[in-house]
Amino acid sequence: MTVKIGIPRSLLFYYYYPLWKTFFEGLGAEVTVTGPSTKAVLEEGLGLCVDEACLPVKVAFGHVAALRGKVDFIFVPRLVSVFPREYICPKFLGFPDMVRSCVGGLPGLIDININLYRREKDLYRQLREAASPFCRNPLRIAAAFGEALAEHRRFTERLEAGMLPDDAFGDREVAGGKPGGENWTVALVGHPYNIYDSFINLNIIKRIREARMNVVTADNVPGPVVDRYAGTLSKRLFWTLGRRMVGSAYYFMDNPAIDGIIHVASFACGPDSMTGELIQRRARRTGTPFLSLTLDEHAGEAGIVTRIEAFLDMVAMKSELSTLS
Ligand code: SF4
Repeated sequence: MTVKIGIPRSLLFYYYYPLWKTFFEGLGAEVTVTGPSTKAVLEEGLGLCVDEACLPVKVAFGHVAALRGKVDFIFVPRLVSVFPREYICPKFLGFPDMVRSCVGGLPGLIDININLYRREKDLYRQLREAASPFCRNPLRIAAAFGEALAEHRRFTERLEAGMLPDDAFGDREVAGGKPGGENWTVALVGHPYNIYDSFINLNIIKRIREARMNVVTADNVPGPVVDRYAGTLSKRLFWTLGRRMVGSAYYFMDNPAIDGIIHVASFACGPDSMTGELIQRRARRTGTPFLSLTLDEHAGEAGIVTRIEAFLDMVAMKSELSTLS
């Protein structure tokens, strides 16, 4: 019988879905992913998660709960580090334990440790653990791992070519970040689960595109460029996602093709409070149009949308004025 594995559409799904899906499918499993976030998903998460957690974690609880009764296992890795000498926010480390103690009626959890702090090569050994509940054939595991890595590389190349994850997940040869014909370009900077989850961010990408603007994100910036700009900080940032945000934001401010930056943060997020401040200070110094949005489940939609629209109007006016002068 085919084993069914559920993957919640939340947290680092937006970076690792192609890798995880290819790996499990290579082992003969059927992969089910939850649908896009909705109010119902959030409400389910709010009822299960502790109040102190940030909005993306509460939404992730809702996604996990949505898989109950539909799959044999839910994949909720304990993410400690996804890059050598860097860490991920501790909420990722505690996520499987929080889920296990707060969400009833769950199937088996595949909650392997992913910790690449010492070296990236450890990923193979760690993913092998994920296969152990239903596949122990070493040749099949090695082949699935090779396919998964190749798929992850293809996905990363698509992002760096200008696509956004929703387009890069599929086979379509479209440049999601660059539909063409737009007059201005806005860089959207934030954690992937904030900027790519259209429910959490009140459809910000669609709103920017409707204003006839092009959207780029940190994931469209090649790694060496991020490294170069993040390296200008006096101290190395040890959060992988924060480092990527700051490095790419500094690059965007140095790039005349970028007309403005929107930073999306979660309320009560420690890493965001620091990286947001670093980006905002640099934006002030460089005169880059900048909007900072902090989101939680109480954020008033009308107020946030008005701020986004006003910012986009300002970007358009500023760019037109500079063309005239
Ligand atoms: S980095 Fe911030 S937004 Fe992300 S999980 Fe941690 S606290 Fe939440």
